[in-house]
Amino acid sequence: MMEAKNFIEEIINQELAEGKVTTVHTRFPPEPNGYLHIGHAKSLCINFGTAQKYGGVCNLFFDDTNPSKEKTEYVEAIKKDIEWLGFSWYEIHYASDFFDQIYAFAVKLIKEGKAFVCDLTAEQIKDMRGTLTEPGKESPYRNRSVEENLQLFENMKNGVYQDGEKVLRAKIDMASPNINMRDPVIYRVLHAEHHRTGNKWCIYTMYDFAHPICYSMQGVTHSLCTLEFEDHRPLYNWVVENVGVEHKPRQIEFARLNVTNTVMSKRYLKKLVEEGMVSGWDDPRMPTLTGLRARGIPAEALKKFCEEIGVAKANSEIEVSYFEHFTREYLNEHAPRAMAVFEPIKVIVDNYEGGEYVEIDVNPNDPEPKKRKTYFSKEIYIDAEDFSLAPPPKYFRMKVGGMVRLKGAYVVRCDSVEQNDDGSVKAVHCTYLPETRSGSDTSGIKVKGTIHWVSAEKCVPAVIRKYEYLLKDAEYPGQDFSERMNENSLHEFNGFAENYLFDAAEGESFQLLRKGYYKKFVENGKLVLSEIVSLKDSFKPQ
Ligand code: ATP
Ligand code: MG
Repeated sequence: MMEAKNFIEEIINQELAEGKVTTVHTRFPPEPNGYLHIGHAKSLCINFGTAQKYGGVCNLFFDDTNPSKEKTEYVEAIKKDIEWLGFSWYEIHYASDFFDQIYAFAVKLIKEGKAFVCDLTAEQIKDMRGTLTEPGKESPYRNRSVEENLQLFENMKNGVYQDGEKVLRAKIDMASPNINMRDPVIYRVLHAEHHRTGNKWCIYTMYDFAHPICYSMQGVTHSLCTLEFEDHRPLYNWVVENVGVEHKPRQIEFARLNVTNTVMSKRYLKKLVEEGMVSGWDDPRMPTLTGLRARGIPAEALKKFCEEIGVAKANSEIEVSYFEHFTREYLNEHAPRAMAVFEPIKVIVDNYEGGEYVEIDVNPNDPEPKKRKTYFSKEIYIDAEDFSLAPPPKYFRMKVGGMVRLKGAYVVRCDSVEQNDDGSVKAVHCTYLPETRSGSDTSGIKVKGTIHWVSAEKCVPAVIRKYEYLLKDAEYPGQDFSERMNENSLHEFNGFAENYLFDAAEGESFQLLRKGYYKKFVENGKLVLSEIVSLKDSFKPQ
């Protein structure tokens, strides 16, 4: 028996012990109407992870019952995202592959007097549905004969009616305390072209009817879904019992993932793309899986996050800094170090001539750290924020009269500064201390600050991109996303970087010393360094 690490596994353990199931077969059921986001990653990890743990399998099941919003583009993107996370599905199925069988089950329900064709409009059905405290009213069409229902349903299928003119409803109980059980609609007329079945159908099954049937057909034992489906479970079970399938799947619900400062709805993410607020679904600020991948988030970090947040039955909001924590942890271990300056100021080492290669650690966290060479020269660039004309007390970076170590190279003493007419820094003049060379320092001189730099002689211009969250903090609970957009989430700098970064593999991630984790790529022949996550961890465990 596996040790259960959440309530779903407790249920499964019990079922296994009682012999109710002998294997675990799950599915991940996206609707191909947009790209997957970080919330879907949680569902993926739970569905694939649970199956894996029990030596079972997980299907990829496309819920394509809503033809007007679905596209093949999304199907392909979803597959790619799942592969990126490292999950392998057992079989791929589409709800549309089962349309014939689902139709046959609907006919069976009609024959058994368990479903009827209803002529009420959507509006009327809603008005007659009742409330949480009052029962609903029965449809005047509820007692049509089986023969009439069969004929009308066939007419629906044959395109005799307009959209919305007729629906098929399950005949359950208009007085049920669960509103989903009050004669729910299970088929509607919809003259729309489907991305897979074309114009074959002009009636489409509703989600609640399709899912349990499709899962039964696939041999799914557990459909693990989010809490909003809890109220639909009685209907799910009703379908399983009443259509007469042999294999009976079970639905178990868990809490949705919500993350602070993060848009978590396909509908709204789509709006951001359509309105041009972002460059596309794969904009590095997007919480889509394709966006996270473009950003440089390691799949392993995302999976670790999903594992650590656990599986609960109550909805909650997770701090975005908790997610960033795992990205940082992973990259700290895996990303090579490099140097770049974001807002360059020139430093001239007056007593140094020529140039030489010095060494910096590739990654000091490696079990056996390696060194690599970088070029040092008379003229270098440092970051504007590492120099102060009016240093506050305890300022250990570069200031006139102070000493600082240039990472991997020498200790320099800052002698003077040349300024432009507007007071800005034109160049800083320093003297280096030859006996302080890193790795062979015999000087005994101790300095409190070490700063990064790049050689002005051997460096490349770099476009540096930093990001803020797309979504500002809510001012009050439930504030609409549209009022929380951060219009200023992209910042660009023109800096300089080591040649090493230009030569590195496309898409590789680095820790830019003292700056953060950045992904490298080349755009129109120019080096771009795109922020993955900042260096500092602001996450505080509770
Ligand atoms: P959205 O509301 O963003 O459009 P959805 O629920 O409509 O999402 P589906 O394609 O139907 O998207 O989702 C596929 C699966 O992913 C469902 O089982 C759903 O429960 C799950 N899922 C969606 N969002 C989240 C989330 N934020 N946390 C956990 N699971 C989620
Ligand atoms: Mg959905």
